[in-house]
Amino acid sequence: MKTIQDWIKEYPLLNDLVATKEVFWSNPKYEAFQTGLKKLPLNEKDVKDAEERLKRFAPYIAKVFPETRKLNGIIESPIVPIPAMHQQLSHLYEHPLEGTFLLKCDSHLPISGSIKARGGIYEVLKHAETLALKHGLLAVNDDYSILDSERFRNFFSQYSIAVGSTGNLGLSIGIMSAKLGFKVTVHMSADAKKWKKDLLKSKGVTVIEYKEDYSKAVEEGRKQAHSEPNCYFIDDESSRDLFLGYAVAASRLEKQLEDLNITVDENHPLFVYLPCGVGGGPGGVAFGLKLMYQHRVHCFFAEPTHSPCMLLGLVTGLHDKVSVQDFGIDNITSADGLAVGRPSGFVGQTIESLLSGSYTVSDNELFKLLSSLADTENIHLEPSALAGVIGPVKLWTEKEGKEYIQNHNLTDKMKNATHLMWATGGSMVPKETMNEYYKKGATLLL
Ligand SMILES: *Cc1c(COP(=O)(O)O)cnc(C)c1O
Repeated sequence: MKTIQDWIKEYPLLNDLVATKEVFWSNPKYEAFQTGLKKLPLNEKDVKDAEERLKRFAPYIAKVFPETRKLNGIIESPIVPIPAMHQQLSHLYEHPLEGTFLLKCDSHLPISGSIKARGGIYEVLKHAETLALKHGLLAVNDDYSILDSERFRNFFSQYSIAVGSTGNLGLSIGIMSAKLGFKVTVHMSADAKKWKKDLLKSKGVTVIEYKEDYSKAVEEGRKQAHSEPNCYFIDDESSRDLFLGYAVAASRLEKQLEDLNITVDENHPLFVYLPCGVGGGPGGVAFGLKLMYQHRVHCFFAEPTHSPCMLLGLVTGLHDKVSVQDFGIDNITSADGLAVGRPSGFVGQTIESLLSGSYTVSDNELFKLLSSLADTENIHLEPSALAGVIGPVKLWTEKEGKEYIQNHNLTDKMKNATHLMWATGGSMVPKETMNEYYKKGATLLL
C-alpha cells in the first residue's frame, strides 16, 4: 500500500489537491483522435436507442407535465449567450478572454430543474417501459399517453424504485416515479437540502435521511432494494442507463448551436465545462459530445476543492477504489450536487481517454460567480452549477491550460472558439435560499 506521501511524490499535483487548493489538470491519457472510442462498452447505437425511447414517451410527458408542452414533451433546456458575464469574468480575473461564451441552462430543465432531469427521468421511463412491455400492457408503437391512467398506475404500484442522492437525483427519480404510480424511496445524504426533502414528501415519496454522505445513502438504498422483491435500484455509481440519458443532450445540442449560427469545425473548436459529482451527468454529456464532434470538442470537468473525487480517481488511476477521505479531504462543500467523495468507476474508465482535463474551484469562488452571473445576466443558479463558469479563465491562466492550447495547436483558433458552460441546476431553489446565496457572493466580491 502506497502512502499519501508516495502518491504525492509520483503525482505532485496531489500536493495542492490534498491541501484543497485550486488545481488544473490536463489529462495525459487524452486521445484527441479517439482511437479509444471504439473500445468502449457503449456506442452511437445505444445513444440513439435512448433518444428514440424519449421520443416514444414524449406524448405522455407532455400530458402529465404541462410545462413540457412547448417542446412537445421533449425535456430540453435553452442555450443562451452571456456576453455581459464574459466581460465580467475578464474583469474579475484580470485576463482577456477570447471567443463566444454560452450557457447551457440545464438549471431550467422542466420537471426537476437540474441536469438530473436527463439521466434520472430517462432511467425511470426505461424501467417503466420494460415492465409494461414484458406484461403485454404496452407496445412500442402505442401512443404512450395511455400510461396516464388508473390501469397503469395500479400496475406500477406493485413495483418500487429506490435511489441514493445528495438531492437533485432524488428530485428527478422521485417526481417521475411517483407520477407513473411507482412506490419510491429516496435515500438522502446529510448535505441534501431540507426544501428538496419537503418537496419530495409532498409528492408522496418516502424520504430516508442519513447523517453520513452520499456514498452511505447509495449503499443503504442498494441494501433496501436487494431485500425487497420488485424493487429496482437506480445506481448512480454505475448505471449505464443514467449515462445514456445524459448522452442524448449532445445530438440536441448540435441543432441548438446551428440555430445560434455557431460553427463547430476544424477551425472553430468547442470547449465544454461540466460540473462533476459522481460523474454520470458530465460523463454522459461528454461521451455524447465526443461521438458527435470528435477532436473538435474539448471537455473539461469541474469539481469543488473539497470534493475532487473524479480528479483523484483519474490521476491515481484508482477510480472508485479511492475516496477523497482516504486522502484526508473532508468532502464538505456548499455545492451539494457535487458533494461526492468516491467517483463512479464505470464513468472514470469510460471517459478516461475522452476527457481533456479537469480543475477544482473553491466554494467562495462559486458564490462570487453566482452573484456575478445574477448581476450581469439575471440568471440564478445553484452553487454547484457555477463550477463550469470559471472554466475558460482556468484554461487561459493556468500553466497546464495554456500548454493544452499549445499542444493541440489551438492558439490561432482561440478567437473562433465557443466556450459552453454547463449550468447544471438552480431553477427550483426557493427564493429565500437563493437570496442568501446571492448575498454571500456579493459580500465576497466587495
Ligand atoms: C448531480 C449534479 C451534478 C453532477 O452530476 P454527477 O452525475 O453527480 O456527476 C452537477 N450539478 C448539479 C447541480 C447536480 O445536481
